[in-house]
Amino acid sequence: MVALDKIKIAGAGPAGLSAAINLAKAGFEVEVFESGKDCGHRFGGDLQGFEAKPYDKDVIKDLADMNIKINFDCDPFNECILMTDERQCTMKMDTPLYLFKRGPFKGTLDTGLKEQAVDSGVRITFNRTMPKEEANIIATGPAGKEIFAVDKGIVFETSMENHVVCLVDDKAHVKAYAYMLVTNGYGCMCTMLAGQFQKLNACFDSAKKIFEKHFDPDIRNPKAVGGVATFSLKNEFQSGGKLYVGEAAGLQDMFLGFGIRRAITSGYLASKSIIENKNYQELATEYFESRLKNSMVSRFMQEIFGNNLTYNFIINSINSSKGKSRILSAINGRDYSYNKLLYRIALGYLSRRYKNLKA
Ligand SMILES: Cc1cc2nc3c(=O)[nH]c(=O)nc-3n(C[C@H](O)[C@H](O)[C@H](O)COP(=O)(O)OP(=O)(O)OC[C@H]3O[C@@H](n4cnc5c(N)ncnc54)[C@H](O)[C@@H]3O)c2cc1C
Repeated sequence: MVALDKIKIAGAGPAGLSAAINLAKAGFEVEVFESGKDCGHRFGGDLQGFEAKPYDKDVIKDLADMNIKINFDCDPFNECILMTDERQCTMKMDTPLYLFKRGPFKGTLDTGLKEQAVDSGVRITFNRTMPKEEANIIATGPAGKEIFAVDKGIVFETSMENHVVCLVDDKAHVKAYAYMLVTNGYGCMCTMLAGQFQKLNACFDSAKKIFEKHFDPDIRNPKAVGGVATFSLKNEFQSGGKLYVGEAAGLQDMFLGFGIRRAITSGYLASKSIIENKNYQELATEYFESRLKNSMVSRFMQEIFGNNLTYNFIINSINSSKGKSRILSAINGRDYSYNKLLYRIALGYLSRRYKNLKA
């Protein structure tokens, strides 16, 4: 528990700003230090999405409950095309996927959160790297954590209609997926590799060729984007009187590389622990443990069974069930419970490659 009136936060990403907004609203004096020159500086306009599974609440309602407003451009999508180079199907999503932009620009998630923080009375100092010893809340993102995936692509202007396309052909990624997202004349085409990072350029080139073969992305004014994803099960949420939130606490979905909703939620839980004098380690462990373990099981399944044969089989099954496949629900029905036996096998398998997995 942190008993202070004045709170210092290192890092102005979604995790740090979520904590800052909630603490400021509760009457604390909050100062955030950001080493970059603006919020979202590590992104270049990438389109990203809020993770929908494994949550029971619609993300917009969830964010409202955590005092986060939608003051940024955010579009819901209810369908996604899943494809290989040979086959494709349309998946209907039970809960919409919301897309938004990242980066230090107007209308992005990062600028929206910054504005909410400033309006709540938070002071943000940019271009200032804060030594961890001086901060009460560490929200410094992936720096120094073990990389499990890299992502490379482009953003562009386009005349293409709105689309969410997930490409799972082996040529286009390594044990992950490639994607093309288009919303309101703006596109983002990327590939993600969970291993063999030297193939990044070749995979992106293949992904682009496949997208161009099956669609007309009409790419204009492309700009490069990308980054890394980190993951850890050594989740020390609270240590030496400091609270760790977001990717600094190892919070990521190890299957799909989603981290924003977890970052915002951990920031909220950290603020709640301070405001209500609760134990953050306990709050965060209760909330995240099974979600993190579930994502590891899904990653394990992807690494073992992910290949074009399986992808084509899944696409056929979705097509024959008019978009609502049981296989899909099994893969993506990652609720709070997890299969303990599968988890043990997954941990044994994955920890040979990732040294930071073991708690
Ligand atoms: C290409 C790509 C695509 C992604 N797509 C998605 C997606 O679609 N959906 C999703 O949910 N997630 C996605 N993610 C993951 C998501 O972006 C991160 O999980 C999320 O931004 C983590 O938030 P955070 O606040 O923990 O860290 P960050 O967003 O990294 O913010 C941390 C901030 O702390 C600052 N900082 C670091 N050290 C210090 C210090 N010592 N002092 C002061 N400041 C410091 C950094 O400059 C940074 O601005 C993607 C990631 C990448 C790379």
